[in-house]
Amino acid sequence: MGNVPITTCNKVLGCDFGGVSEVFCHASRSIRYNEEDVQLALRVVYAPMEDASAEFLKMGQEVLIAGIKKVQGWDPLTWRQERVARQQVTGQTSQLWPSLSESRFGRAHRAWSVEILASDGRGGVRNLPGLLQVAHARKDRELDKVKGAVQEISTVANYARRFNHHVAELAGEDPDVPAIRVATTVACFVLDGVNPEIADAGDTLLLTLFDAKNLTKFVFEGAEDFLELPQAFFHFVLWSSGGKELVADLQGIQQERDLLLVDPVLLTTGDLDISELLSLATSTGTGSDFQTCNRKRFNLWHPRCAQLCQSFDPQRRGGNTRRACGVPLPNCGVGGG
Ligand SMILES: [Zn+2]
Repeated sequence: MGNVPITTCNKVLGCDFGGVSEVFCHASRSIRYNEEDVQLALRVVYAPMEDASAEFLKMGQEVLIAGIKKVQGWDPLTWRQERVARQQVTGQTSQLWPSLSESRFGRAHRAWSVEILASDGRGGVRNLPGLLQVAHARKDRELDKVKGAVQEISTVANYARRFNHHVAELAGEDPDVPAIRVATTVACFVLDGVNPEIADAGDTLLLTLFDAKNLTKFVFEGAEDFLELPQAFFHFVLWSSGGKELVADLQGIQQERDLLLVDPVLLTTGDLDISELLSLATSTGTGSDFQTCNRKRFNLWHPRCAQLCQSFDPQRRGGNTRRACGVPLPNCGVGGG
């Protein structure tokens, strides 16, 4: 099974809909697109991420969406909502997976690979590959909810910048130090669309600059291949937030020595006492049920510390650190020897 094109609906997105300039609309078609292929006209309404590539998707930018396809290798994007749905059905009381009232983690959405067309500012049209995510429920397509998701992803990107700075300092002169990056995501308002199975005018959705055949879970439910860099980043977020935030569902692709994350989730933990996490992987410690739950999540999703963990959180016991990094890291033991 390869990529499956979405069935084109009979309606054709005309150049007379409001919001998108006619010049741009015609220009986009003169490049290579058939009318039937353009299915959505969007306007970027929230773009807080600072990134060079974000120039392409800045506030107020109008874009057209074409080439909408399901990609089988991207199925992991929706695993988390399936886990939460299963937890609800089976009535598990442990609540390991964040409930819908706690987080957007389990919010059901669909994901497609798309081509994004935007003006290049010089009379031409730029074309970049992207990921389009639309919530199942109409109420979850409201601006505030989608903005909240973008804000979360942007905050994870800020943590990643601090983490990369920390790793680079440890590596000293070594120019080949690996980094964690987060794919740029923006919130877009749907100006018009031709296929209600994708989205309707008035909806808000997530658009991410992303291109890959397959997507890998780096930190998700504890059974993933242990990779030094994402595991250390997972620990770093809780540590540097002072126990207030836990990053979840680290997924994406490896790009040479770097990792590019897409659509990570940030959970509020209710002020976990980090020192309690440090000693015993099986400890439930003290505190509220909510804190106990987050402590379990931390220990399950981060079954042991990477060597890098010790460089920012020396109290944490190294335990069974392994040397099989998966990501090329100087001697696989920056700061840990
Ligand atoms: Zn750790």
